[in-house]
Amino acid sequence: MKRIFLLLVAVAFFISACSNTEHPEGLEEQTVIEDVHSYAYIHEVKTLHLDLDLEVDFNNNTIYGIASHTISDHTTDKMIFDINGLEIIKVTLDSGVETDFKIGKNDELLGQPLEVTIKPNTKQVNIQYKTTDQSGSLDWLPPSLTSSKKYPFLYTQGQAILTRTWIPVQDSPLNRITYSATIKVPSELLAVMSADQLSPKNADGIYKFKMDQAIPCYLIALAVGDLEYVKLDSRSGIYAEPQLIEKCAYEFEDLPKMINIAEKIYGKYQWDQYDVVMLPYSFPFGGMENPRLTFANPTLIAGDKSLVSVIAHELAHSWSGNLVTNATWNDFWLNEGFTVYFENRIMEELEGKEIANILAIIEFQDLVESLALIEDSENPEDANLKLDLEGRDPDDGMTDVAYIKGAYFLRTLEHTVGRKKFDEFLKGYFAAHAFQTLTTEKFVSYLEEHLLNPNKIEFNTKEWIYQPGLPENCIKISSPRLEAMEAFAHIADQGGDLSKDNAFRKLKLSDHITQEWQTFIRGLNKNVSHSQLAFIDQQLGLSTQANDILKSDWFKLCARVNYTPAFPEMKKYLTKVGRRWLVEGIYAELAESKDPKRLEFAREVYENAKTNYHTVTARSVAQHLGLK
Ligand SMILES: [Zn+2]
Repeated sequence: MKRIFLLLVAVAFFISACSNTEHPEGLEEQTVIEDVHSYAYIHEVKTLHLDLDLEVDFNNNTIYGIASHTISDHTTDKMIFDINGLEIIKVTLDSGVETDFKIGKNDELLGQPLEVTIKPNTKQVNIQYKTTDQSGSLDWLPPSLTSSKKYPFLYTQGQAILTRTWIPVQDSPLNRITYSATIKVPSELLAVMSADQLSPKNADGIYKFKMDQAIPCYLIALAVGDLEYVKLDSRSGIYAEPQLIEKCAYEFEDLPKMINIAEKIYGKYQWDQYDVVMLPYSFPFGGMENPRLTFANPTLIAGDKSLVSVIAHELAHSWSGNLVTNATWNDFWLNEGFTVYFENRIMEELEGKEIANILAIIEFQDLVESLALIEDSENPEDANLKLDLEGRDPDDGMTDVAYIKGAYFLRTLEHTVGRKKFDEFLKGYFAAHAFQTLTTEKFVSYLEEHLLNPNKIEFNTKEWIYQPGLPENCIKISSPRLEAMEAFAHIADQGGDLSKDNAFRKLKLSDHITQEWQTFIRGLNKNVSHSQLAFIDQQLGLSTQANDILKSDWFKLCARVNYTPAFPEMKKYLTKVGRRWLVEGIYAELAESKDPKRLEFAREVYENAKTNYHTVTARSVAQHLGLK
């Protein structure tokens, strides 16, 4: 692995005889940022455009074909790509002259450097390759794990450093490239990508795509399945399996409104089209912001639109993350903190301040829990916004700190300077850095120069970014609706009997939104009796009727207090859902109980369920269960 860090390169300029003697040093500092998670030296030679010509083979679960890189002018005689779990067959230059290549030592985390010999005048490097069963970004699902049960499904998940497992690329967020693709799939299936879809559904199964706006490689994405499309308006729509399409169209019908709201706050949507593709349950995230085509998890289909904030989140990434991208994974909060903040602003416009506050408080509950775990962990410095992930998987930095502490930092800033000034600042920030990458340090100086100094505001920016925990001035948000739910939980928790509480006894699950019930469940702790849990489950149907988000909170509680009557439904849930955030907490509670029976139960369920988990989820769960 290459030792890589923020490198200050002093560039010497020749001083001409007539130069101004008041500036005799003739030196200028130019910042070269490098990425600890990539082998590529993109400041020496980089991909400008990538063209993919690939065939997706469901019989052998492989993708094979050619990745052609159009490269920058250079003086070097080698170009390094990142690969991990790929079989490289042949490399040619320009119109077909074969060239030498060398594959370096494998690092478990980063994969291997693919070093290709190039010439000074080389314009194009063509890599013929195929994926293997070690290609961690690919999730090949047999028909039994799809909604249709008829056809197989494939999707890719590139973030953070998995694109190199299905395409040989310079896999750093620093590297923005355009791409085009020709993808051949079985004739009954449809291919969709994070790009302009140039071919309609056709019997040849050949689909062409192009992405003319430069994006980081982790946003190159492909899904292949039995997909239908429903148009929501002239620039948005939903892809889903036929069995889900109607439900999805209802759940996300506010999408066009959301795009309009987002544009009003931070300026024009720059990616033309905004579609969502609903993937199978094994997708490890709630959503993934692949440009033009958000990948979404069916756990978002709540039936009452109470989980659409995830779509607001992915849409918000069209500005923060996709338009202005974290330079390295140590700056991940620049992607996610801004996005959680922006997501809440969209929800405030869409649903009002009360709902937006409820959503922000739920996030805060998550953050407090995560900070406590991080402070007790091997890496307490992960509670800082600016991370140091050298030698570690960037996934380790994908915690509530980047997302929620980041958002609370921005909310507190907004509260300090006033919304009008803050919005003007952010609009300027997105415009000034569009289609660029940014480090935390650059953000801090931009903030000082464009917001804090002109308004003569003292703000503890450094404490927020470079210190763990939550600073004193963190904004406090309250919600009477959530306080009422906490009061119910308090009754059960203090040994009271909710079955004798008239107000509670009248309640049905549909009387409150997901986040209110989450607050209720989270308010119950170890003191709650099993008879109270039995009554609550019987009245509300949390084990069977609740949506997948609520079930996750409920089963976490059941695991913590060893409420075994819920375990059979918990097992079904863990076998169906593969979204990491939802299943990881339940496994963690089972494992942390130190109860050998619960750990054994967890391991048994995992053994059975893991074929339905993407590697991202499987890796995290295995860690909790002490299997890695
Ligand atoms: Zn995000």
